[in-house]
Amino acid sequence: MDTSVDQKKVRKFLDEATPLIKKAYSFAKRAHADQKRKSGEPYLNHVLATAITLDEWGLDEPTVASGLLHDVVEDTPVTSKELADEFGEDVAFLVDGVTKIGNVKYRGHEKQVENLRKMILAMAEDLRVILIKLADRRHNMKTLEFLPSNKRKRIAIETAEVYAPLAYRLGMQGLSGELEDLAFPHTHPSEYRWLISNLEARYGEREKYLEKIKPEVEKALKEALVGVISVDFRAKRYSSLYKKLLRYEMDIERIHDLVAFRIIVKSVADCYAALGAIHNLWPPMPGRIKDYIAMPKPNGYRSLHTTVISLENRMVEFQIRTEEMHKEAENGIAAHWAYEEAKGGKKYAQRKAISAGHTEIAWVEQLRSWQQDFTDPKEFLDSLKIDFLKDRIFVITPRGDVLDLPHGATPVDFAYHVHSEIGNSCVGAKVNGEMVPLDHSLRSSDVVEIITQKGKKPSPDWLDFVVTSTARAQIRNTLKGTSHSLKVDKPKKIELKIKTTERVGLIRDISDIISRSHVSIQQVNSESRGGVHTLRFLCNTEDKKKISKIILKIKNIKDVKGIDYRFV
Ligand code: MN
Repeated sequence: MDTSVDQKKVRKFLDEATPLIKKAYSFAKRAHADQKRKSGEPYLNHVLATAITLDEWGLDEPTVASGLLHDVVEDTPVTSKELADEFGEDVAFLVDGVTKIGNVKYRGHEKQVENLRKMILAMAEDLRVILIKLADRRHNMKTLEFLPSNKRKRIAIETAEVYAPLAYRLGMQGLSGELEDLAFPHTHPSEYRWLISNLEARYGEREKYLEKIKPEVEKALKEALVGVISVDFRAKRYSSLYKKLLRYEMDIERIHDLVAFRIIVKSVADCYAALGAIHNLWPPMPGRIKDYIAMPKPNGYRSLHTTVISLENRMVEFQIRTEEMHKEAENGIAAHWAYEEAKGGKKYAQRKAISAGHTEIAWVEQLRSWQQDFTDPKEFLDSLKIDFLKDRIFVITPRGDVLDLPHGATPVDFAYHVHSEIGNSCVGAKVNGEMVPLDHSLRSSDVVEIITQKGKKPSPDWLDFVVTSTARAQIRNTLKGTSHSLKVDKPKKIELKIKTTERVGLIRDISDIISRSHVSIQQVNSESRGGVHTLRFLCNTEDKKKISKIILKIKNIKDVKGIDYRFV
């Protein structure tokens, strides 16, 4: 019979199983004896595949056992109490968590919230529950073709929108990409067919080319005495290729990393030595060297990336990392436990429980605090979508810390992300040394500096442009504490209209004066008509004393010809 589980892996898994895992296997076999999967194979295969995945991720004994038992409470007469009696509280707790997550399907709006909430609640308690759910989903996605089409589509969308991003945030890039790829043919059937028919030949041609230059790469690494473990190349996943094509007007010619080299080396020093050897061989493309070892991605990803101009003037991407970095990139949080095991030498013995308090995953902590901020389920869902399921940008504090913010984040979001007090007392912002309005959209690698003033309160207008739930909740909270209605203390805005002759640096000079008076600038416009240059600064203040001081100072700036203001 056709089976979705590798029988060789099953034998190895059962050979190495501990008594608890063997017992869980027999228990699951009995409980699911009469059940078949939609594919016609025994139900047991599904729970075996789930447990084997968890074992390969290096998880602890109760988690692997729970992988085998994860569907018994849901699908058979077995109760949670029986599990606790037979296998202990830990296993019963984990299976309960998985059952709870599985209970609510991702359909209507309200139900989505419930589902996501339960998932996150479970995660905040114990990440192992999420890992079991991810292993379960991985096998379900592999056998998705046997389900009716409406169910197939719903599960694929849920996988792409909820589980793949979750895996990514846990640092499991391998799994995240795999889930996206498994979902892609179901969520985008016609696009998938287009990719297949337009790309298969190109992938083949590309691989042939890399095969041709591979010996040169290996020779260069050898000559540079780099401790190499492996040199191979991998085709870009269809799902991520499709996302990239959307950004490049579907022009395949502009995609240079269809197939990329991956060099695995022995040490961090070898990573940089390998990068040097490659750059010595072929010139790198400016702006395409990424050092995620010195500056890891927020999900923990570490690697060196570079794109070089190789033979026949063709561009080739290289990814260089150590074996440890590679395993972490594939398995994320789970990889940490696998190392403990390797050091301890005994299977399962050294594996520890994964609690959400793990310091390496700061966003789990964020989740906890956000949960408390929201009472309206719709708002909670929206905040989740915005904060987790969208692209992120990475900006830098003046001290060099890298912050992970959602796409479209503003200096106010940044300020609240650093600290609620900094958010509340924020009056201005500099990006890469230049004053910007507070609703300015930040971009990756911007250096952001917040100008604060003691005792300042946030403006209700900020709610119009902030994108993070943290900032929104903090602004609301602070405003609630200061007045009964948001409308009442909404400050008036003032527009300064300044006539000048054109000069580089003039806008900065004026911005400096305004922000030194602790007035925030919301917008700056400039226009030139008939030789007259006009700057308009929209500022958040109604303090006439301050305004007249600012005007006096601006009048004294060189090249300022006249100044006017009005409340708006
Ligand atoms: Mn299952």
